[in-house]
Amino acid sequence: MSYDQNNIFAKILRGEIPCIKLYEDAHTLAFMDIMPQTQGHALVIPKQAATTLFELSDEAATACMRTVRKIGEAQKKGLGAQGVVLMQLNGEAAGQTVPHFHIHVIPGSIADLRRPHATHMADQAQLKVLADRIVDALAD
Ligand code: 5GP
Repeated sequence: MSYDQNNIFAKILRGEIPCIKLYEDAHTLAFMDIMPQTQGHALVIPKQAATTLFELSDEAATACMRTVRKIGEAQKKGLGAQGVVLMQLNGEAAGQTVPHFHIHVIPGSIADLRRPHATHMADQAQLKVLADRIVDALAD
């Protein structure tokens, strides 16, 4: 599948639409999911233009996992999450709705994921409060 330069995460990476940012480095960006499945649900994306895992370079995959680990640790510290669930969908057939590779970093338990993903828009102010707690924990 060819990469769609106009997908929503490509626009976030280019700064064309806003996101509640948690962390950024040379290869990755982490931000809050606007339709979270649990409180603190975050997304980690590579800066590489890749639709699924199968187009992603080994270097970008490694960088993503490094960032996932940072965010998960910060969710544990900042939000008191007992567990952290990772979810990563490849292709529409798998349920992927945004065609730029991403890893969902979801504080909580698999049992909390009864609500289908990408359905309920969260309150932006509440997302920002949770994001601040994660960002503060990243700095610890
Ligand atoms: P997928 O279905 O592709 O695995 O997940 C896409 C995720 O992106 C969903 O959880 C959805 O809530 C989230 N999402 C969709 N559009 C936006 C957006 O504009 N901003 C943010 N921050 N998240 C989004």
